[in-house]
Amino acid sequence: MERSQLYNIIIDSLPIGLTMVDKDGITIDWNRTAERITGYSKKDIIGKSHLKILHGTSDKEACPLLRCALHHFECTVEVTVKKKDNGLIALSVMASPLFDDDGSFIGGIEVFSDITEVKRAERERKNILSMFAHDMKNPVIAMEGFLLRLISGKAGTLTSTQCQYLQLIMDESSKVKNLLTDFLEFSKFEAQRCDPVLGQFNIEKAICRCIEAAKIEAEKKNLRISVEASVNTSPSISADAMLVNRVITNLLDNAIRYTPVGGAIIIRLTGNDTNITVQVEDTGGGISEDHLPYIFDAFYRGAKDQKGSGLGLSISKIIVEAHNGMIWVNSTPEKGSIFSFTLPRR
Ligand code: ADP
Repeated sequence: MERSQLYNIIIDSLPIGLTMVDKDGITIDWNRTAERITGYSKKDIIGKSHLKILHGTSDKEACPLLRCALHHFECTVEVTVKKKDNGLIALSVMASPLFDDDGSFIGGIEVFSDITEVKRAERERKNILSMFAHDMKNPVIAMEGFLLRLISGKAGTLTSTQCQYLQLIMDESSKVKNLLTDFLEFSKFEAQRCDPVLGQFNIEKAICRCIEAAKIEAEKKNLRISVEASVNTSPSISADAMLVNRVITNLLDNAIRYTPVGGAIIIRLTGNDTNITVQVEDTGGGISEDHLPYIFDAFYRGAKDQKGSGLGLSISKIIVEAHNGMIWVNSTPEKGSIFSFTLPRR
């Protein structure tokens, strides 16, 4: 067997992504594992700019391979790249410059593995640990019971200041209870999967009911909420009404929470014979690019000073995907966000 033939077999059999560039950053080799990890075939990338395709930029410093090739050092780093389908993946990369026998610089070589899931698990584990700092739900419920007795005067007459303070304690403990409710619900979905109980229900009416329930919070911030429904056929779908209500409520609550006083929220309902799409658009602060890839992760919170569990969106994602639907966000910092989800009618 020819040496070059053997070389190709070895490169393509490696269980790790491998790529090489020439001194101008043009891709000259790309193995099968690299194709599988990124979705780019050899045809997509060989002879083209490694930097532009994988990193979507012309800044050579953004790419570990070109960085190490430019500065002639080896490096081991983690980097986020765009797959062919535009999804982001985290890679663990080892890169090294290449020199010919005369010591002239001729390019760079890189091996990489997909660590997206490892990174996600790591982030979630860290967040879960901080979450456990909170108490569990049962003691909070017991506390609320005693607080209610005190407030109602069953344990003796209280001054109005005492009542006021107890009410404040009650409000705070109900926030803790809400956090724990989210936490327990998420753990349940993780442990037992989310199995929707399908039934026929009218999603347009469900949206109106969710708005009605959120009205008090929206009024506190003087937010306008409107519905735009343009469904060709009936707004009736086959889904788990309770779970879908949870998704609409989560998105609406977030829109209210993250939109400043006087803003507007529009809920759009569109659909065709096969799918129904709900969009919740707000005029809030939007989400920065740093946070955007992670907001559907469990326990991830963009604004640490805000009150929330960081679970609303991950619970929504689990529910939508359990219905074979999709959920995503488009957001422009300082302008607002549009959260969308689609559900198949059946
Ligand atoms: P929580 O709101 O409890 O923090 P979520 O899972 O609902 O948790 O949301 C995760 C993060 O996504 C939030 O902390 C926030 O940074 C961001 N986010 C969600 N919805 C919006 C929105 N409508 N506008 C701006 N940021 C949002």
